[in-house]
Amino acid sequence: MKISDVLNKKKSGVSFEFFPPKGNAKGADGGVGPFMKVVKELEKHDPLYASVTYGAGGSTQARTMDTLLKIKGATDLNVMSHLTCVGADKESMDALLRDYMKAGIENILALRGDAPRDMKDFDPSKGEFRYARDLVEFIKKYDFFSIGVALYPEKHPEAPSLEKDIEYAKMKVDAGADFAITQMFFDNGYYYDFMDRAIAKGINIPVIPGIMPVTDFNKIKEFCSFCNASIPQSLERKMLPVLESPEGIRKTGIEYVTRQCEDLLENGVKYLHFYTLNRADAINEILAALRIRPAKEPNEQKKGSGPV
Ligand code: FAD
Repeated sequence: MKISDVLNKKKSGVSFEFFPPKGNAKGADGGVGPFMKVVKELEKHDPLYASVTYGAGGSTQARTMDTLLKIKGATDLNVMSHLTCVGADKESMDALLRDYMKAGIENILALRGDAPRDMKDFDPSKGEFRYARDLVEFIKKYDFFSIGVALYPEKHPEAPSLEKDIEYAKMKVDAGADFAITQMFFDNGYYYDFMDRAIAKGINIPVIPGIMPVTDFNKIKEFCSFCNASIPQSLERKMLPVLESPEGIRKTGIEYVTRQCEDLLENGVKYLHFYTLNRADAINEILAALRIRPAKEPNEQKKGSGPV
């Protein structure tokens, strides 16, 4: 089902983002069994959709598709593929989109992407798409997909200003985006301020906040340094007394993010998009604390419950 239709229908809900587990090309399980267990565990929250990331420069293209097909085959989840265009040409993009159409994958998060960190000879200028907006325009022509885009409450790292970033964001919305998901943030003030500015610029699609459960503080700080998300003083202060205790960090992080989600919901936010990092436990705890109860029991018999 198209996410645009899901959002029209459902007045609230959560969504989950996964990355393709590292499978073994020779067919051994390679983490896929445990991965599907996590997906099925989170399916009980009846999410709006489950999305699968796409490695920088298309580096996980086959694994992304494979993971989407596995989720589709083993669950009732609505799936969305992330798709980056930097370095891609239109012919291969067309082939990929046709494969998605054949597979019944109707939702795409259209991204520019970044050059892969480990590919020294990667030349983004060789690509035929410059910005995510070009990809949105390209996908729109198929008249098949519901299209999402990424937005940045604290500004994209390359943008000269938040104002300019929102101007460019409006262009990708006008090109045909149905909804947006934000970069993670830990201070809701950024999201509220961003939304005021975005709405004033005419961005009127659903903008779903991206929520990162904090369980490993050092790892989160590392992510934040790549993507221009700031760690609020209040979170630093709460972490200070527990820094020597992984369990203390986890508890403090989950409490913080639960409170963050509560605040968003109390302020009228309808949907939350969780970066799962392919783990269910922290998200289960946050949703339980928010009293967002599982919509249905996981059905172990459904479409085969073993490793797929
Ligand atoms: P764009 O919208 O093209 O913006 C990129 C930069 O260009 C911004 O600074 C913008 O201000 C600027 N810009 C846009 N238009 C113009 C213009 N006309 N003139 C001048 N400047 C302009 N990356 C992955 O590799 N795989 C993933 O699966 C993935 N998933 C993500 C999911 C979410 C929810 C988010 C928030 C990010 C994700 N990313 C992913 C990261 C994303 O690819 C990077 O942040 C990337 O640097 C920008 O992508 P974009 O689609 O936002 O680019």
